[in-house]
Amino acid sequence: MSPRPRAADILKPAGPCCHCKQHADERITVTYAERGSSPAQAPLCCLPCARSLLLHGAGHTWLAGDLAAIDTERTPPDGYR
Ligand SMILES: [Zn+2]
Repeated sequence: MSPRPRAADILKPAGPCCHCKQHADERITVTYAERGSSPAQAPLCCLPCARSLLLHGAGHTWLAGDLAAIDTERTPPDGYR
């Protein structure tokens, strides 16, 4: 019974996407900087870029979980009314 991540906890404030450089209202951390001593260097991508990174195998396993959590939260359980 581990708590599931919530979209509000996963999504970062609006700003430029690290990948396509476009402004994004919602961004997501796509990887952690593991070199050097700058933990604040985690790049933020827009959701479309995060999905494409994942498709190309560039995302970490938790990225898939984060995207799935967002999708689950936003998918109406009984379809769109
Ligand atoms: Zn992007």
